[in-house]
Amino acid sequence: MKNQKPIYLDGNATTPMDPRVLEAMLPYFTHRFGNPSSITHAYGWEAEAAVKQGRQILADAIHGSPEEIVFTSGATEANNLAIKGVAEAYYQKGRHIITVQTEHRAVLDPCKYLQTLGFDVTFLPVQSDGLLDLKELEQAMRADTILVSVMAANNEIGVLQPLEKIGEICRQREVLFHTDAAQAIAKIPLDVETMKVDLMSLTAHKIYGPKGIGALYVRRRNPRVQLAAQIQGGGQERGKRAGTLYTPQIVGFAKAVALGLGELESETKRLLELRSQLLADITQIPGIHLNGHPKKRLPGNLNVSIEEVDGSALLLGLQSVVALSSGSACSSASTEPSHVLLGLGRPAPLAYASLRFGIGRFNTVEEIHKVAQFARATIQALRQSYAG
Ligand SMILES: *Cc1c(COP(=O)(O)O)cnc(C)c1O
Repeated sequence: MKNQKPIYLDGNATTPMDPRVLEAMLPYFTHRFGNPSSITHAYGWEAEAAVKQGRQILADAIHGSPEEIVFTSGATEANNLAIKGVAEAYYQKGRHIITVQTEHRAVLDPCKYLQTLGFDVTFLPVQSDGLLDLKELEQAMRADTILVSVMAANNEIGVLQPLEKIGEICRQREVLFHTDAAQAIAKIPLDVETMKVDLMSLTAHKIYGPKGIGALYVRRRNPRVQLAAQIQGGGQERGKRAGTLYTPQIVGFAKAVALGLGELESETKRLLELRSQLLADITQIPGIHLNGHPKKRLPGNLNVSIEEVDGSALLLGLQSVVALSSGSACSSASTEPSHVLLGLGRPAPLAYASLRFGIGRFNTVEEIHKVAQFARATIQALRQSYAG
């Protein structure tokens, strides 16, 4: 037991790479090492073919076209490119941006940065279930609004925002719609056409792919989105993001997406079962509150607040058996309660005493049982220690 690592249940932070992904990537580190931009020899052609195939797989996954995919280093960079790139390209049309208080910091921080440059940003609140109130969105729209950014699936509470309805509201007013789909790709169906999405951020490492690779979908037709590049150089990615393409990561990203989509139905069913089991097991003791909408959420995500325990003591008590995040861990070094849980209206102690379970592809029924039992015992022991 001593040298054994805890059970990994932090799948909303990152996921282990699927061995099938690694296998697909390996040749592109060694003998298929060419630069996909080298058009004068076979090494380049080989890499270019792999990138082309990867681009097609990603585009198909979201019902876009390959020319609309811009590879980036991950969703953080994709969000920065989308938000700053649109702001810079459209500032003469307007300087108002709408987003949501519960977004990932990779959306919130670029928006706050734009405020320092003179942009006006509305950070909409959410309802107690984590969902955006569409009436509030409609009311926030102005003649000078250029962009609405609302995430597909929340990284802390897994809540799925109504993208189709948001897209409709934006399209009617000819306002661009960006969604951070880092947590959603290959976990729930995504369609940039029916959802009327103009820009979509993606990443590989939340879906059993490699870290350091992501993409931004940028619509080219109806409407054609203008985007100011944030990294200039060799003109790759149609001038939208310079830098030599990272072929092995792109191959791995595409493989991860293909695997995720191929197993979507069966895996969703399995994760839903594990999650309901975990919730039922844990709520055998009183004073446990589910955070976020009970149904409109990612199948593998469970987030609960726990009464009458200290958040850090709880995490400390659990860490030898299970690796997970609390409601304060998302901004890593921060000990502030989660802005997402506060956004739901949870009082600070409950926002602080929370656990985020991210159940994933490699978790088993036995692991879930073990974690639930241990969590119950730990919570009860802590409560007794305060009472005594
Ligand atoms: C993980 C995550 C990000 C950051 O993605 P990276 O690829 O790690 O940069 C952004 N948004 C959401 C919702 C995430 O879950």
